[in-house]
Amino acid sequence: METLKTLIIGSGPAGYTAAIYAARADLKPVLYTGMEPGGQLTTTTEVDNFPGYPNGIDGPTMMIQLQNQAERFGTEVRIGFINKVEFSTNKGGMHKAFTEDGTEIQAQTIIISTGATAKYLGLPSEQRLRGGGVSACAVCDGFFYKGQEVAIVGGGDTAAEEATYLAKICSKVTMLVRKEQMRASKVMQHRVTNTPNIDLKYNTEIDEVLGQEVVEGLRMRNNNTGTTEEIPITGLFIAIGHKPNTDIFKGQLNMDDAGYLITKGKTTDTNLPGVFASGDVQDKEYRQAVTAAGTGCMAALDAERYLQAVESSVAI
Ligand code: NDP
Repeated sequence: METLKTLIIGSGPAGYTAAIYAARADLKPVLYTGMEPGGQLTTTTEVDNFPGYPNGIDGPTMMIQLQNQAERFGTEVRIGFINKVEFSTNKGGMHKAFTEDGTEIQAQTIIISTGATAKYLGLPSEQRLRGGGVSACAVCDGFFYKGQEVAIVGGGDTAAEEATYLAKICSKVTMLVRKEQMRASKVMQHRVTNTPNIDLKYNTEIDEVLGQEVVEGLRMRNNNTGTTEEIPITGLFIAIGHKPNTDIFKGQLNMDDAGYLITKGKTTDTNLPGVFASGDVQDKEYRQAVTAAGTGCMAALDAERYLQAVESSVAI
């Protein structure tokens, strides 16, 4: 068994940024990558909106660079998965985390950056064309479809927001909502219906995404009448929600109804002392690499301050 000052769980922009700051503060962090080393950005082709990359960068390369930067300051990055935690409820107490092979790790502070996973429809054609025109992030990938016809699936606030975002870039946006009404807030619904180049289709689902290497079209089905229609598109955006990766924290950390971790005020503090949350696991609003990185930095600073406070109270 080992004892750490700081354990970081998750390897997206939040986890690696926390690692950079924690390592520079001499907290000797160990970072467990999780099942998808590099996180959601490894499924994106080009990242054009992260400050500091004037020519853009592809997602996997950016994540390797973040890893290298974290390692340069002494972070130990381990390819592995934490599948159980036992948090202490006392200030200064030791938290326990267990890897998939049962190894126990004790840590004074734990930074949770396990992210969220975009939900997909699960159609074989959709899965085959991920990265070939199927995306779960309009803000990340919409720009590549400038002046083109695209479609978006979903009827919540995310779909409504992303549809209006895409409508500013693309010539036409077909929005598919599976029920006869949208779940999005009224104000967002109005924005959608007042945007002339959004073609809103209720009671409509996807039968198949058309195209072999890249998206070329969509066959959609009206679930009331059963009639199908094919439309040409080059991009398909899936906006049917995200699932925060918080299953192993249930019963120990406060979360909202959707499972996102709740942090206190402007900090990354969870309800337990020494346990911090950063990135998409505690943010369903912004969900950007740069905002995740920002909260990763905050989590490392919060951990450092917490450790200082614990040490000074022991000294007294
Ligand atoms: P939601 O869970 O709110 O909405 C998901 C949408 O996807 C629903 O319309 C749902 O349909 C649809 N859907 C789910 N599965 C499928 C499927 N298999 N096929 C077709 N459609 C499907 O997720 P969001 O990401 O939109 O929002 C998450 C949370 O974040 C919400 O609380 C939202 O209010 C909030 N948010 C707020 C924003 C803001 O205030 N600016 C911006 C973005 C999000 P159905 O209704 O039929 O179940």
